[in-house]
Amino acid sequence: MTDEPTQVISINFESGGSGKGVSWHMDAASCPLRRALRDLARKRAEANGLPQEHNWGGMEKADRGSIFHKLVELYHTGWLRPEQALEIPCPDAKSAFDEGIRFFTGYRDNFPQDFWGKVLGAEVKLPRDQDLKALEIPDALIEAPPYILPVTIDLIIEVTNEDVARIVKTLPVLEGMEAGVYLVDWKTKDQKPYNLLNAYGGKVQGLTYQAVYNFCNPDAPCKGMIYMGIVGHKPMRLRDEGQRKPKSFWPLLQHSPTDDDLQMLGSFFLSAEALSHTNFPNLSSCEDFGSCVYYIDGERTCLQKAKALE
Ligand code: SF4
Repeated sequence: MTDEPTQVISINFESGGSGKGVSWHMDAASCPLRRALRDLARKRAEANGLPQEHNWGGMEKADRGSIFHKLVELYHTGWLRPEQALEIPCPDAKSAFDEGIRFFTGYRDNFPQDFWGKVLGAEVKLPRDQDLKALEIPDALIEAPPYILPVTIDLIIEVTNEDVARIVKTLPVLEGMEAGVYLVDWKTKDQKPYNLLNAYGGKVQGLTYQAVYNFCNPDAPCKGMIYMGIVGHKPMRLRDEGQRKPKSFWPLLQHSPTDDDLQMLGSFFLSAEALSHTNFPNLSSCEDFGSCVYYIDGERTCLQKAKALE
């Protein structure tokens, strides 16, 4: 009997978002002081070679999402062969790392590797250098709509009519899809999002991602954005027996941006940018998104920390 070599898949993942992208602007619009303190913490962490704080939620949730995102990227781009993917055991939830794997195995058990049709890319960062060169702008920022920000798109797919029929049969909520290119965004969740668009940052993220994608691919713009909310039930399943509504997987189809949407995005980002220079503490945001990291046991620790900004 020969010993089979153990295969090790090494995963490098990044946390911290796309720099001054959509999350940064949403945070600045929500509470400028929180954004300023986070920027300060990030600069200090960078100076000391420490990991960066994630933009939203705590580090644990960021780790869970990062592990899930990396595994699902390897899965849908074929780097993780089907037999390898199926050998990944589902761990009991202990750490955020285990949770990321558990979310992935739950997803894998319900969606085959070719579920989304042809995969054009995963974790795609836009705009590319050549896009910016073609636009003759120095960096990822245009001060008028469409506002071009750095984005990282989880998955870009191209579907045929046949793919659409299969996808909609499994996920009837995606009725309305047609053949063409779509962007997909994964959202790992503790529980069912009560309002899909609010839970996913309103319209802003999806419309911006689509606007940036279309700006960089004017000859083949995308048809929409699919958010996939993934809830970690035990076990994770498409739907309960005899039910039409989803159980653990909550997709949402967002239309492609209209001219009004682009105008709205430009106004939003310009306002957020202006607000970010005020360091204004917005007390109405302390309990947003599962509570601000500077709002501890009902105490706002941000005002004390703000002295470091002076
Ligand atoms: S505790 Fe409230 S006011 Fe302070 S940074 Fe957080 S959201 Fe802003």
